[in-house]
Amino acid sequence: MVRSFDLVTGSCGSDETKSAGTEAQVTHKMEGLMPSRFIWFKGSMVPVEQANISVLSPTAQFGLNVFEGIRCYASGAGDGQLFAFRLNEHFGRLMDSCKLLGMSSPYKTSELKDHLILTIRANEYHEDVSIRLTLFVDGEGSWSSEGPIEMFIAPLKKPRINVDAPPTLSACISTWERINDNCFPPRIKTGANYINSRYAHLEAKRDGYDCPVFLGRNGKVTEGAGACLFMVRRGVLTTPSLTSSILESITRSTVMTLASELGVQVVEREVDRTELHLAEELFLCGTAAELTPITSVDRVPVGCGRPGPMTMSLLRKYLEVVSNQVARYSNWLVPIY
Ligand code: PMP
Repeated sequence: MVRSFDLVTGSCGSDETKSAGTEAQVTHKMEGLMPSRFIWFKGSMVPVEQANISVLSPTAQFGLNVFEGIRCYASGAGDGQLFAFRLNEHFGRLMDSCKLLGMSSPYKTSELKDHLILTIRANEYHEDVSIRLTLFVDGEGSWSSEGPIEMFIAPLKKPRINVDAPPTLSACISTWERINDNCFPPRIKTGANYINSRYAHLEAKRDGYDCPVFLGRNGKVTEGAGACLFMVRRGVLTTPSLTSSILESITRSTVMTLASELGVQVVEREVDRTELHLAEELFLCGTAAELTPITSVDRVPVGCGRPGPMTMSLLRKYLEVVSNQVARYSNWLVPIY
């Protein structure tokens, strides 16, 4: 059955109750496809197949966009409720990215929140989802164009990490250098920055590793291709500082808060590559990565080569917090329904 969506009321209904569907709805009926995924696209809720951007747009040609990867988690209460995690922080970073890239957001953060909620409701998702919310330079301009700025919000079902059988990663130190604040500032979350991530990721895969870890211009550890990095060294949870060519990660800040609460000492400082070989534990963190253990670096085992106890306690705590099982962090959560 094809669903339709009312942008004003936020209610879903079956096409069969409507006298005439939109062109896309009719197409779907004819093709007998599964219900389409709805995307918020330039002010309308459209089936994903209709969310198309011109090949001449600056976002298509130059990666001229800013975006956020956001997660919604099913409530631990099992009541069908879904919670968006740390929306204020995501929208704050989006506005920072806009400012640094000379893009003016047509939407206030309250509007971004409303549109995101409507998009999840349109898809009737009640399980864990990942959302990409992107402001992009549309039209037929060039890399210096300042507008028109448009937006899409694209959700996708994505289950959380299975804490009983977490994935593990083999990492390598990339030969590629991390971009830095004086050329491609890593604190801007823009599509173009991910070309640097791509170089390192492809090299890591070619060489038989799961993921790269970047060093910066000064030879110190920065972050992964799409996630920040923590190590446990002599019992201290340690991570490169916010001025060491990293994205200002929301998960990183969450992990630091949760670690302090667990009584773990947390330090932000420069990290040497050899420390990654000596670390007791190592993990990547990010909205998509959640907390993913790294069990070797350049084929040298991290600790005993298995996810470590501190990583696993933090991951457990993180998953409790995002699914509203820890009351004092419920202010980080925005209910969808
Ligand atoms: N660094 C990079 C390069 C990333 O792409 C991401 C993912 N957004 C992160 C770190 C983690 O950031 P966050 O925790 O806000 O998702």
